[in-house]
Amino acid sequence: MSKIKFIIPCEEANHVCDKSQYKNASIREKIALNLHLIFCRACRKYSSNNSKLTKTIKKAEVECLDQKSKEAMREDFNQALKEISS
Ligand SMILES: [Zn+2]
Repeated sequence: MSKIKFIIPCEEANHVCDKSQYKNASIREKIALNLHLIFCRACRKYSSNNSKLTKTIKKAEVECLDQKSKEAMREDFNQALKEISS
């Protein structure tokens, strides 16, 4: 977590990101999300993981990642899936 105060917290940014997947996010939410993504590398990663979820999983399996990276990635995916299904 960076010291910079974001307009919306990461959790909300991720939520908006999920909503925009289904075109449910409002213009205001999308602007807030984009502003957040400019400053927040973690959420940019989340956003890109989210939109390319299946593709990224397949790619991750092909690439020879160390165990720690794999686990971190799997947790990201699980979190994203949870957000989508909730
Ligand atoms: Zn964030």
